[in-house]
Amino acid sequence: MKADFLGRVEKAGTCTGCGLCAAVTAGITMAQAAPGYARPRQIGSVSLAEDSAIAAACPGLVVDERDHPHLASEPLWGPALFTGTGHAADAALRHQASSGGVISALLVHALETGLVDFIVQTRADPDRPMANITTVSASAADVFSAAGSRYAASSPLAGLEGWLARPGRFAFVGKPCDVTALRAHARRDPRIDARIPLKIAFFCAGIPSAAAGQRILDRLGVAHDDVAAFRYRGDGWPGFATATRRDGSLARMSYADSWGDILSKEVQFRCKICPDAVGGAADIACADAWYGDDRGYPSFEEGEGRSLIMARTAAGDALRLSAEKAGKLSTAPLAVTEIIKMQPHQARRKRQVLSRLWAMRVVGRPVPRFVGVGVADAARLEPLHLQLKSFAGLVRRFIRGTA
Ligand SMILES: Cc1cc2nc3c(=O)[nH]c(=O)nc-3n(C[C@H](O)[C@H](O)[C@H](O)COP(=O)(O)OP(=O)(O)OC[C@H]3O[C@@H](n4cnc5c(N)ncnc54)[C@H](O)[C@@H]3O)c2cc1C
Repeated sequence: MKADFLGRVEKAGTCTGCGLCAAVTAGITMAQAAPGYARPRQIGSVSLAEDSAIAAACPGLVVDERDHPHLASEPLWGPALFTGTGHAADAALRHQASSGGVISALLVHALETGLVDFIVQTRADPDRPMANITTVSASAADVFSAAGSRYAASSPLAGLEGWLARPGRFAFVGKPCDVTALRAHARRDPRIDARIPLKIAFFCAGIPSAAAGQRILDRLGVAHDDVAAFRYRGDGWPGFATATRRDGSLARMSYADSWGDILSKEVQFRCKICPDAVGGAADIACADAWYGDDRGYPSFEEGEGRSLIMARTAAGDALRLSAEKAGKLSTAPLAVTEIIKMQPHQARRKRQVLSRLWAMRVVGRPVPRFVGVGVADAARLEPLHLQLKSFAGLVRRFIRGTA
């Protein structure tokens, strides 16, 4: 039978590319679809039971975080037992990583203390350097080499059955939508919480297409086939988008240009209506703890990496404390009210999610069900004229076919 639910996700245009559907059934695989996003492709029959398991957890049409509710008093940033800034104590890791290397430092600590036996995370695809693969890390060296943000599609849940088939417990690192889907699937599959004691996410402004990545290469004047390695950032904070040619020479572009001018302009639609881009369902979520510039906007001047850390569950906070005690991590508490200065774009998007859902409703697209993520509470923080502007802008883009 045809996967009904995925038909609705396709009509809504809200696939995140997480790969959960491919984990649930052998009838679906993940493939790249124009302009370069990860999308499910049906290659066999999908049973009614499989279709309903997908429907219960697919973040394309359902985000239900009532088990980790975003607080009505604080709807923008999700639940937190600890909020702070910090960085990996290991200076090389801090430099290599995306911001302060906190995610990687926590992963190394979880491995070294035996909390987990391995880690499922994302790294550069050795055969297609602009793209990503999901990988198993079992040592500090593996974690080090996978550190850094990869602004391209990833489907870390697609191989879930394979990871669960390995002996031992593991930590999972993913985009907020990946962790949302994993949590939702855990309600049906008890192996997930038993075997994955740590679910880590980062704040996510959206997944750019492969075509946007190609535009970086075009602007750098580097031929796609000549790319031996590519990093989107890291190796400094924020670090440079850097292409290594086959002859070893480098071409690089600042983060302000690569993310600000190119990648952020072409993220998949679902990310523009994301109700939980801050990883509220994770045990611990990290982000860039940008410093503000003179105008109060985040400054992307190169500096020593600093992460924002939100430990959301007892498991996440215990790991954070234990890593600090072991000297692997340095942190300082931060008032939640300070986050908006570091992440103004995340705040604006969250406040406008409701108006965008109304735009979807008006044009007859299936509308996702977002529960426990404070969408209505966030909308109350947005002035009415800005909500109307966001609603009308999206309706216009739907009509023009540019959404
Ligand atoms: C697409 C994308 C959008 C982002 N948007 C924001 C944002 O809006 N605001 C913000 O503050 N931060 C954003 N980040 C996160 C930020 O860049 C840092 O990852 C975060 O600050 C954690 O830094 P760190 O030094 O602790 O991470 P590191 O120690 O460098 O670890 C990063 C981890 O992320 C994993 N990873 C990298 N790329 C991907 C991917 N595509 N899919 C799944 N896992 C991946 C790696 O495997 C690694 O485990 C984004 C990252 C990505 C990949």
